[in-house]
Amino acid sequence: MNIYKTLPTIVIAGRANVGKSTFFNRIAENVRSMTYDVPGVTRDIVTDIVSWHGHLFRLIDTGGLSSTKGKSELEQEIKNRALKALQDADCTLFMIDGLVGILPEDREIAKLLRHMRAPVFLLVNKTDCAVAHEYMHEGATLGFPVFGISAAHGRGVDDLMQAIIHKIEVPVSSKSMTTPTGYRVAVIGKPNVGKSSLMNQLLQKDRTIVSEMAGSTREAISDTVTVYQQTLTLTDTPGMRRKRGVTEPLEQLMVKSALRAIDAAHVVLLVVDASHGTLSDQELKLAFYAFEEKHKSLIVVYNKQDLVSDEEVALREQQRSLYRQLLDKVATITVSCTTGKNIGKLTSLIHTVWERSGQRFSDVELTTFFNEQLTHKPLFKSGRSLEFYRAHQIKVAPITIKLVVGYPPHWERTQLNFFDNQLRTRYNLKGVAVVFVV
Ligand code: GDP
Ligand code: GDP
Repeated sequence: MNIYKTLPTIVIAGRANVGKSTFFNRIAENVRSMTYDVPGVTRDIVTDIVSWHGHLFRLIDTGGLSSTKGKSELEQEIKNRALKALQDADCTLFMIDGLVGILPEDREIAKLLRHMRAPVFLLVNKTDCAVAHEYMHEGATLGFPVFGISAAHGRGVDDLMQAIIHKIEVPVSSKSMTTPTGYRVAVIGKPNVGKSSLMNQLLQKDRTIVSEMAGSTREAISDTVTVYQQTLTLTDTPGMRRKRGVTEPLEQLMVKSALRAIDAAHVVLLVVDASHGTLSDQELKLAFYAFEEKHKSLIVVYNKQDLVSDEEVALREQQRSLYRQLLDKVATITVSCTTGKNIGKLTSLIHTVWERSGQRFSDVELTTFFNEQLTHKPLFKSGRSLEFYRAHQIKVAPITIKLVVGYPPHWERTQLNFFDNQLRTRYNLKGVAVVFVV
């Protein structure tokens, strides 16, 4: 049974810019809701499983509650989903902006919430600014218990969470219901490569709105599924759309959101369209960022296999020299979301890669191994042979190895790459990053 289905649900409501996503990010440890610097970027419904001092609940951030007059079909659909989330909520946090006070739109939302079953707490946000305290009295006239908070600085958040937990009796996680111990998988890639389709395949349901329109808005962006007794949280690159007046190209926004999804993930699935020839610069950059900079496990998923032959796919892997080394290290698989081909294999590959990144090596094993390699092929720098004393693994996921050496400045990328390659040749580490600390 999926325990997450039974968790109490807390929904955050409020008009745009009051600070909902800032609050969400503060509570949700797996940061993935976003505050953008670009005004006018709206998010859709974001949901996460959250643990606050051992209390587990589902946190939902709704967007798009404002009136539907003149809105597109998609926006109406998002509003309907927000309403549904409010109806199913166990507790609603209604946030207003303490710098602005109560606007007509806030009153509209308040009216809506009075008809809902769940208890409502009014949050007056931005109390780090003095004027917000004045608006707390005004807020009280809306008829809900008032909490002054600062989402950005954390003020008042502890008291609020205590009150919520008291009100709706959020269960303390028992032994069998601990904080999710699984791992997070981000599904990233350019628009239209099949990310939503892949999410649906992996989650075995028709969850997101798959649309033919490139870069179309999508709703929920994360969901959990159990794979080999591990809870795997899948995150899609959040759907977003431009509001009028925002000129930044959608592609750039997509990249920004992909970067954030990568930061929050353990394993990254970079979905590419196998029928599109070699990886684009943007895709290679994403791969580089995920694997080399952020040290995340990486699987390149060639989707739409039904449209190309295996030979073509193999050719496409022969990428340009700069990224050749990188692509040798990451895991790859060819799938088709249309026919379902290799989806099962992908599921087990994700699990395998996750397990690989959790491997532990003993100090003796590592030290002996590296010493052996150096005996075969001593390393030199500026005419001096490099001295290596011992190795010690300090972390898993990513595998992080501390090297104790004679003269650290001489251990640069080339020297470390030697160790990296040797380690990869000896152990199967395809798809996982290895970090060396000298
Ligand atoms: P949302 O549209 O409701 O999700 O709002 P955001 O979380 O994107 O926040 C809107 C703006 O308010 C951002 O510029 C935030 O940095 C700012 N903000 C959020 N919380 C606080 C706070 O506690 N104090 C102050 N001064 N600004 C805040
Ligand atoms: P996203 O923008 O990356 O989330 O892409 P979508 O999942 O919305 O898919 C974009 C389009 O590609 C849709 O029309 C899908 O039906 C189609 N598509 C997805 N996977 C496959 C596949 O394996 N084969 C083919 N032929 N089409 C696919």
